[in-house]
Amino acid sequence: MDHQIKNLNGGIFVQTHSNKKILLDPRKVTGSDFIFVSHAHTDHLHKKKKNEKIKIKTLASKETSIIAKIRGYDIQNTIDTYEGFELVDTGHILGSRGLLIYDEIFYTGDISVRKRGFMNSTTNIPKVDTLIIESTFGKPEYVFPSISKVIDQTNKIISECYDKGNPVLIMGYSVGKAQLLFDLFKHWDPFYVHDSIYAINKIYSELGIILKNSINHTFAEENNLLSKNNPWIMLSPLMNGNSKFVKHMKEKYGVVTIGFSGWSIQPGYKYMMNLDHTMTLSDHCDYNELIHVVKRSNAKKVYTIHGFADEFADSLRKMGFNAESLEK
Ligand SMILES: [Zn+2]
Ligand SMILES: [Zn+2]
Repeated sequence: MDHQIKNLNGGIFVQTHSNKKILLDPRKVTGSDFIFVSHAHTDHLHKKKKNEKIKIKTLASKETSIIAKIRGYDIQNTIDTYEGFELVDTGHILGSRGLLIYDEIFYTGDISVRKRGFMNSTTNIPKVDTLIIESTFGKPEYVFPSISKVIDQTNKIISECYDKGNPVLIMGYSVGKAQLLFDLFKHWDPFYVHDSIYAINKIYSELGIILKNSINHTFAEENNLLSKNNPWIMLSPLMNGNSKFVKHMKEKYGVVTIGFSGWSIQPGYKYMMNLDHTMTLSDHCDYNELIHVVKRSNAKKVYTIHGFADEFADSLRKMGFNAESLEK
């Protein structure tokens, strides 16, 4: 029997030729021999019902289960090895892994092959028959600038704000992106951190990514540490400029906002988000890097999932690959 791969409720169901059934990043747990959770972003986790005990074992890295837990996702029965299966670092966030199944199938989960701050580039794309690849940015217009260019441009903006006496809010997704931003811009002082990110930074430090000491924003506000005339920098989750928090920070302190996302390639993103500046910085592969991963895998069959899955499968077919979207 050949292996079977299909989309099941937003996750992926794999049945191997030896009849093992595996659910990859399921949104809902149904019958399988075990579950694989690639990383601790909520769109890859499943919530269990109250008091529900999930008997099926879950394959996940230690970092993934720890980060998931503080976000309210208690992954039960975690294992980090299973015979014939291998976890492969995917460079997306701390603890992110892809799954190599019997040296035949490789599922990337979310992946980035770019070195940035403390995140090392993933170089060991396994050679396989079948590749299941994320395609979040699987359209040719999503080609990202170099990290050094993004850092330089951002430092320039922050420096201009400091000259004018304006505090700066740097904004990115709370898990992964925020810690990276914290590391890339740690040379700025004083550096404050939004409460929600403060907790995640602490976990990162406990897991070996040492981030510099910082003060959370509630403490800073309660103790009048944030002044209007002495500029400072604060790390916050990426949110719309019209949100209550940003409005408050603008009215009270005149902050300038800089949002970091791969989506900022889209013209109009900055206006849609109501931010002063946006920078292209992503924890995913850009279009060229996705193609690089496909080529490196030597796969005879490629499945695409997430984002521009149909478009990316189309592009791959035009390049001569046997590709199919799992998003149909
Ligand atoms: Zn992710
Ligand atoms: Zn994702």
